[in-house]
Amino acid sequence: MQEHWITISDIPAHGRDFVFDDQTLWREGCETYSLRVKPGRDLVAVYTIQPQAGGALVRGTLKGSVFLPCDRCAADFEFAIDTGYDLFEELPGEEGGEGEEPRVREHGGELQLDMGALLWEEFALALPVKPLCDESCRGVCPGCGADRNAEACACADDEGDERLAVFRSLKIK
Ligand SMILES: [Zn+2]
Ligand SMILES: [Zn+2]
Repeated sequence: MQEHWITISDIPAHGRDFVFDDQTLWREGCETYSLRVKPGRDLVAVYTIQPQAGGALVRGTLKGSVFLPCDRCAADFEFAIDTGYDLFEELPGEEGGEGEEPRVREHGGELQLDMGALLWEEFALALPVKPLCDESCRGVCPGCGADRNAEACACADDEGDERLAVFRSLKIK
Protein backbone atom coordinates (compact mmCIF):
# COMPACT_ATOMS: atom_id res chain seq x y z
CA MET A 1 0.00 0.00 0.00
CA GLN A 2 1.48 3.30 -1.10
CA GLU A 3 2.05 5.86 1.63
CA HIS A 4 1.95 9.55 0.91
CA TRP A 5 3.17 11.51 3.92
CA ILE A 6 2.58 15.24 3.95
CA THR A 7 4.33 17.45 6.47
CA ILE A 8 1.64 19.48 8.21
CA SER A 9 3.70 21.34 10.81
CA ASP A 10 4.77 23.98 8.28
CA ILE A 11 1.25 24.58 6.90
CA PRO A 12 -0.13 27.99 7.94
CA ALA A 13 -3.12 28.09 10.31
CA HIS A 14 -5.56 29.04 7.54
CA GLY A 15 -4.60 25.88 5.65
CA ARG A 16 -3.05 24.90 2.34
CA ASP A 17 -4.53 23.41 -0.86
CA PHE A 18 -3.20 20.25 -2.46
CA VAL A 19 -3.87 18.26 -5.61
CA PHE A 20 -3.09 14.55 -5.74
CA ASP A 21 -3.27 12.85 -9.13
CA ASP A 22 -0.73 10.02 -8.87
CA GLN A 23 -2.59 7.01 -10.29
CA THR A 24 -0.15 4.47 -8.81
CA LEU A 25 -1.92 4.77 -5.44
CA TRP A 26 -5.11 3.26 -6.88
CA ARG A 27 -3.32 0.75 -9.07
CA GLU A 28 -1.19 -0.61 -6.22
CA GLY A 29 -4.09 -0.56 -3.76
CA CYS A 30 -6.30 -2.58 -6.10
CA GLU A 31 -3.47 -5.09 -6.58
CA THR A 32 -2.85 -5.34 -2.84
CA TYR A 33 -6.51 -6.00 -2.06
CA SER A 34 -7.15 -8.03 -5.25
CA LEU A 35 -9.97 -5.69 -6.28
CA ARG A 36 -11.39 -6.22 -9.75
CA VAL A 37 -11.16 -2.55 -10.55
CA LYS A 38 -9.82 -1.19 -13.83
CA PRO A 39 -8.77 2.41 -14.33
CA GLY A 40 -11.18 4.82 -15.99
CA ARG A 41 -10.87 8.59 -15.95
CA ASP A 42 -7.90 9.66 -13.79
CA LEU A 43 -8.79 9.89 -10.12
CA VAL A 44 -7.91 13.32 -8.82
CA ALA A 45 -8.10 14.42 -5.19
CA VAL A 46 -8.26 18.12 -4.35
CA TYR A 47 -8.06 18.90 -0.65
CA THR A 48 -7.17 21.46 1.99
CA ILE A 49 -5.19 20.63 5.12
CA GLN A 50 -5.62 22.89 8.11
CA PRO A 51 -3.44 22.23 11.19
CA GLN A 52 -5.27 22.11 14.52
CA ALA A 53 -4.24 21.35 18.08
CA GLY A 54 -3.54 17.60 18.24
CA GLY A 55 -4.04 16.92 14.53
CA ALA A 56 -5.32 18.41 11.31
CA LEU A 57 -8.54 19.06 9.42
CA VAL A 58 -8.72 17.55 5.94
CA ARG A 59 -11.45 18.66 3.57
CA GLY A 60 -11.70 17.80 -0.08
CA THR A 61 -13.04 15.79 -2.97
CA LEU A 62 -12.05 12.75 -5.00
CA LYS A 63 -13.28 12.55 -8.57
CA GLY A 64 -12.75 10.30 -11.56
CA SER A 65 -14.03 6.92 -12.63
CA VAL A 66 -13.21 3.22 -12.63
CA PHE A 67 -14.43 0.18 -14.50
CA LEU A 68 -16.10 -2.51 -12.40
CA PRO A 69 -17.48 -5.90 -13.38
CA CYS A 70 -21.25 -6.10 -13.07
CA ASP A 71 -22.36 -8.42 -10.28
CA ARG A 72 -25.05 -9.96 -12.53
CA CYS A 73 -23.73 -10.05 -16.10
CA ALA A 74 -19.97 -9.70 -15.38
CA ALA A 75 -19.56 -7.03 -18.06
CA ASP A 76 -17.25 -4.14 -17.19
CA PHE A 77 -19.00 -0.81 -16.83
CA GLU A 78 -17.81 2.67 -15.93
CA PHE A 79 -18.54 3.81 -12.40
CA ALA A 80 -18.13 7.50 -11.55
CA ILE A 81 -16.33 8.36 -8.32
CA ASP A 82 -17.39 11.71 -6.92
CA THR A 83 -16.99 11.84 -3.19
CA GLY A 84 -16.26 14.41 -0.50
CA TYR A 85 -14.65 14.17 2.95
CA ASP A 86 -14.33 16.46 5.93
CA LEU A 87 -12.21 14.77 8.57
CA PHE A 88 -10.27 15.53 11.69
CA GLU A 89 -7.09 13.47 11.78
CA GLU A 90 -5.84 13.06 15.33
CA LEU A 91 -2.33 12.51 16.58
CA PRO A 92 -2.02 8.99 17.98
CA GLY A 93 -2.64 8.99 21.75
CA GLU A 94 -0.11 8.10 24.44
CA GLU A 95 -1.52 4.61 24.85
CA GLY A 96 -0.87 3.88 21.18
CA GLY A 97 -3.42 3.06 18.53
CA GLU A 98 -5.56 -0.04 18.88
CA GLY A 99 -4.31 -2.04 15.94
CA GLU A 100 -5.02 0.69 13.45
CA GLU A 101 -2.13 2.32 11.63
CA PRO A 102 -1.97 5.95 12.72
CA ARG A 103 -2.36 8.36 9.82
CA VAL A 104 -0.71 11.20 11.71
CA ARG A 105 2.80 10.74 13.04
CA GLU A 106 5.65 12.73 14.46
CA HIS A 107 8.68 12.25 12.26
CA GLY A 108 11.98 14.09 12.78
CA GLY A 109 10.27 16.72 14.93
CA GLU A 110 7.61 17.29 12.27
CA LEU A 111 3.95 16.40 12.19
CA GLN A 112 3.02 14.32 9.14
CA LEU A 113 -0.22 13.01 7.69
CA ASP A 114 -0.53 9.95 5.45
CA MET A 115 -2.84 11.14 2.67
CA GLY A 116 -2.26 7.85 0.82
CA ALA A 117 -4.10 5.88 3.53
CA LEU A 118 -6.81 8.53 3.89
CA LEU A 119 -7.54 8.77 0.16
CA TRP A 120 -7.48 5.01 -0.28
CA GLU A 121 -10.11 4.68 2.44
CA GLU A 122 -12.32 7.30 0.78
CA PHE A 123 -11.91 5.50 -2.54
CA ALA A 124 -12.80 2.10 -1.03
CA LEU A 125 -15.88 3.60 0.69
CA ALA A 126 -17.04 5.10 -2.62
CA LEU A 127 -17.11 1.70 -4.36
CA PRO A 128 -20.49 -0.05 -4.48
CA VAL A 129 -20.89 -3.25 -2.44
CA LYS A 130 -22.84 -4.84 -5.28
CA PRO A 131 -21.83 -3.19 -8.56
CA LEU A 132 -24.51 -3.30 -11.27
CA CYS A 133 -24.09 -2.07 -14.85
CA ASP A 134 -27.76 -1.10 -14.62
CA GLU A 135 -30.41 -1.55 -11.92
CA SER A 136 -32.43 -3.49 -14.48
CA CYS A 137 -29.54 -5.72 -15.61
CA ARG A 138 -30.99 -9.16 -16.33
CA GLY A 139 -27.65 -10.92 -15.88
CA VAL A 140 -26.36 -14.14 -17.32
CA CYS A 141 -28.63 -17.17 -17.67
CA PRO A 142 -27.57 -19.81 -15.13
CA GLY A 143 -28.72 -22.48 -17.56
CA CYS A 144 -26.91 -21.69 -20.83
CA GLY A 145 -24.71 -18.71 -19.96
CA ALA A 146 -26.40 -16.39 -22.45
CA ASP A 147 -26.35 -12.66 -21.74
CA ARG A 148 -30.03 -12.02 -21.04
CA ASN A 149 -29.58 -8.33 -21.78
CA ALA A 150 -28.66 -9.13 -25.38
CA GLU A 151 -30.79 -12.18 -26.16
CA ALA A 152 -33.74 -14.14 -24.88
CA CYS A 153 -32.49 -17.70 -24.55
CA ALA A 154 -34.61 -20.84 -24.67
CA CYS A 155 -34.15 -21.46 -20.94
CA ALA A 156 -36.28 -18.46 -20.09
CA ASP A 157 -39.38 -20.56 -20.64
CA ASP A 158 -38.11 -23.41 -18.47
CA GLU A 159 -37.53 -21.02 -15.62
CA GLY A 160 -41.09 -19.81 -15.98
CA ASP A 161 -42.31 -23.36 -15.93
CA GLU A 162 -40.29 -24.06 -12.82
CA ARG A 163 -41.96 -21.25 -10.98
CA LEU A 164 -45.35 -22.46 -12.15
CA ALA A 165 -44.48 -25.98 -11.10
CA VAL A 166 -44.40 -24.83 -7.51
CA PHE A 167 -48.00 -23.77 -7.83
CA ARG A 168 -48.95 -26.89 -9.71
CA SER A 169 -47.56 -29.06 -6.92
CA LEU A 170 -49.75 -27.37 -4.34
CA LYS A 171 -52.62 -29.65 -3.61
CA ILE A 172 -55.93 -27.90 -3.59
CA LYS A 173 -58.28 -29.55 -1.16
ZN1 LIG B 1 -24.98 -6.20 -15.81
ZN1 LIG C 1 -30.40 -19.82 -21.03
